[in-house]
Amino acid sequence: MNPRPLASVSVDLDNLWAYLKTHGDPGWRDHPSFLPSAVPRLLEILGEQGLTTTVFAVGADVVREDGAKAVAEIAAAGHEVANHSFGHEPWLHRYSRDRLETELSRTEDAITAAGAPRPSGFRGPGYSVTRDLIELLAERGYAYDASTLPTWIGPLARAYHNRTVKTPEAGAGELFGGVSRVLAPVHAYRWRTAEGSALVELPVTTMPLLRTPIHGSYLLQLHEVSPRLARGYFRAALRLCLARGVAPSLLLHPTDVLGAADAPGMEFFPGLAAAGARKVAWLGWVLSALREHFDVVGTGEFVRRTAVRRTRPVTRLDSGR
Ligand SMILES: [Zn+2]
Repeated sequence: MNPRPLASVSVDLDNLWAYLKTHGDPGWRDHPSFLPSAVPRLLEILGEQGLTTTVFAVGADVVREDGAKAVAEIAAAGHEVANHSFGHEPWLHRYSRDRLETELSRTEDAITAAGAPRPSGFRGPGYSVTRDLIELLAERGYAYDASTLPTWIGPLARAYHNRTVKTPEAGAGELFGGVSRVLAPVHAYRWRTAEGSALVELPVTTMPLLRTPIHGSYLLQLHEVSPRLARGYFRAALRLCLARGVAPSLLLHPTDVLGAADAPGMEFFPGLAAAGARKVAWLGWVLSALREHFDVVGTGEFVRRTAVRRTRPVTRLDSGR
């Protein structure tokens, strides 16, 4: 049979309150949720494409009724449910080891209580990893981390965030990964820890060579400028991935299928003004284009199927953080 190259798709189930929290809007404390509109739409479009993917769920949602229901529906549809932290704080890299462990375990407990298998994948909310995080994931038996985004857009996003944010807590520190991420690999690789773990790092794919983002929200912003430009850009990205042997790992968010009416208070968010139906159609095109060239699976399935776990470990841990 035709051995097509493998690609992965994952969804970070960031909820309305998490965006408001990162933005410094005190309204987040009521935990407003758009999961009841977003999850059925996402499941429908993934189902139409015949895709089973990975959904990174936030523990603070999963302990609530709508989040637990979302996780149950996602698992019932055959998707992997992975861990996206408990409190979705992009400054996770400043947590103590104990607090970090609590973030992981509370979310694991919530996911299993909602009826999904214990997660074997983690993605942090701020695109940064620390030594403590990698060691804890290895100790807790995770197969992979997917928290890195090898791009130069991180520092730009941070500068934008720091200009627009309302609270000093959210403004301090290194959100969205540091400048060092620019040089991080785009391929999956293995972390080396003291215990010699097999923990795999699966970066969110950026455009090979250019290192510009190709995740759903970025493509959507391009699409708002020019659908033709967006199609050309994504096709070029896929061609470059094929030419350089990069297995694309495409990241989606609920906001990729939601319109402004579904997310009150998020007017600051780029691209949210576009109508939900228009976004769903565009996402359908993106997923079809990906499927033309690749066999598309979730991130956990990707890690299981690829030989990356047997490749030589790479040390990419900054000392102490
Ligand atoms: Zn997130």
